[in-house]
Amino acid sequence: MNACRVPSPTDFPGRDELEELLATILPIEWIDAARAGDVEAIVDFNDTIDRRGVVHAIGRAGWVAPHYEREHGGRGLSTEMAQRALSLLHSWGVPVTPSGSGLALAAPTIQQWSSEETKRHLLPPLLSGDERWCQLFSEPGSGSDLASLATTAVRDGDEWVVNGQKVWTTFGQSSERAMLLARTDPDQIKHKGITYFGLDMKSPGVEVRPLVNMAGQHEFFEVFLSDVRVPDIDRISPRGEGWSATQSTLGAERFALSGLAQKKRKSSDEILGGKPYLEIEQFARTLGQNLPASARHQLVRAAVNDRVLALSIDRARDSRAAGRAGGSEGSLTKIAKAASNQRLQEIAMDIRGLAATAWEISDSDAAEWVTQFLRTRANSIEGGTSEIQRNIIGERVLGLPREPDAYKGLAWRDVPR
Ligand SMILES: Cc1cc2nc3c(=O)[nH]c(=O)nc-3n(C[C@H](O)[C@H](O)[C@H](O)COP(=O)(O)OP(=O)(O)OC[C@H]3O[C@@H](n4cnc5c(N)ncnc54)[C@H](O)[C@@H]3O)c2cc1C
Repeated sequence: MNACRVPSPTDFPGRDELEELLATILPIEWIDAARAGDVEAIVDFNDTIDRRGVVHAIGRAGWVAPHYEREHGGRGLSTEMAQRALSLLHSWGVPVTPSGSGLALAAPTIQQWSSEETKRHLLPPLLSGDERWCQLFSEPGSGSDLASLATTAVRDGDEWVVNGQKVWTTFGQSSERAMLLARTDPDQIKHKGITYFGLDMKSPGVEVRPLVNMAGQHEFFEVFLSDVRVPDIDRISPRGEGWSATQSTLGAERFALSGLAQKKRKSSDEILGGKPYLEIEQFARTLGQNLPASARHQLVRAAVNDRVLALSIDRARDSRAAGRAGGSEGSLTKIAKAASNQRLQEIAMDIRGLAATAWEISDSDAAEWVTQFLRTRANSIEGGTSEIQRNIIGERVLGLPREPDAYKGLAWRDVPR
């Protein structure tokens, strides 16, 4: 260890401790490659490790989110120092993101809305990756109009008793906790009577059933909640303020799906699915003279579009970092990302031609192209549909009149459904 190192602009409190930890959890060849800046070797190592085990070790030591307080599972570092620590982890190619939506969506919501007691209870296992999180928001009758949700939570001493049904729950089967919205006061208007909980998915009365998407994958689930008892310490928002807290989560979700999430953490293509442009171009090249001129044009347009979008996202990200953003840039780039990714996959299908229509059952590569195409159809639905994003832009950026609501002012209980 380098105890006498001269402080440098990349130093941060605990750096030696972190490097020591990395030396104990990563193979020595990885450490050597990281110190030598051998990126290719690092990428290869990443395929060979127990990813969850590494994230656990990093998370339990507080390095997954070093700017969180120590009592909440972080290191209590300033934003700048935390950024330096994460940059080091990134440059060493170390995975630091627990699977599930806990880190990106639940943690900032808990941080902003929960009591100190609840933060100490929910955040450490989230940041260490010991508890993976899913999102129990959508219901069969409440997707875009999420505030109309009908799952109920009734107070009973120090607990809440929850009944209802949720749907489209990504990671529903493999999660230990869930962001749960439930109606706690049906006599209030729909936005006012909702409370936000962190549900223990192993609680008696929670039943998770698989749904199959059109690509044949078990990507999301439906969840039935029957007399599930939730301790009050798992309540994330103040009673009846769940809708305001939900805005923190939905904003973070739009951000994650918009390509605006912090550079170099996770590429948005990894989140949205679909084949990356370069792989499609590579396949097109193998067709040589057989690639029709129209496909060449489409590819060029897609490449230009991809570049313009990447620059727009960079600009929006920089504005945001400089505090100049208006707040709805996530909606703008989410719509653009979804449309551009879907268009790119359509071009891929055109270029694949017959191979996108029929293939030998053993040809998993051909099947994968189609699976990726089908997956991206969800891009304009997941995390709020493109129509709803346009409504947000219309109302919050352009200042257009709000959508008419025939039941405005009525208690949720009295709204017909
Ligand atoms: C891959 C995937 C993963 C998902 N994961 C989760 C998850 O983990 N947890 C979770 O809670 N939910 C999840 N969802 C659900 C998602 O949030 C909803 O599908 C989405 O909000 C739309 O709701 P809906 O499906 O009920 O459609 P609806 O709200 O019924 O909308 C149907 C159509 O009507 C349009 N529409 C509705 N209202 C308006 C309006 N006011 N103005 C204009 N057009 C309108 C919509 O744009 C859409 O085209 C997931 C969805 C997908 C596709």
